[in-house]
Amino acid sequence: MNPILTLLLAAWAWFVSAPSRLFHRLFRRQVIWLFEHVEDFPDEPAPGRVYLAGDAGEFWGAAMTCPCGCGETIGLNLLPQVRPRWSVPSAASGPATLMPSVWRRSGCKSHFIVRKGQIVWC
Ligand SMILES: [Zn+2]
Repeated sequence: MNPILTLLLAAWAWFVSAPSRLFHRLFRRQVIWLFEHVEDFPDEPAPGRVYLAGDAGEFWGAAMTCPCGCGETIGLNLLPQVRPRWSVPSAASGPATLMPSVWRRSGCKSHFIVRKGQIVWC
């Protein structure tokens, strides 16, 4: 085939895929992680949800699916007398914030902070 035609076809392929690449980038950035209060953690936590078990102000645990997409569920202790321990804002509603960062020691070894509903990778 004509080399110029090959080049034009490659450029065209890049051009027509641009909207989907842009959408993907925007969509990934727009996922807001929200607190959800539950009695029991779901078997398959949904992406974008940080589940809190316990009563407001006295949550004992949090669970979320790993934001890297590996499909693992991350369980976090919120009890002050057990270490390691994470804390959530007292109201714990709307966009999720977790302190300190989450660092998985096994599997994907993801290290991130959940702040105001956003995942900040470390
Ligand atoms: Zn992961």
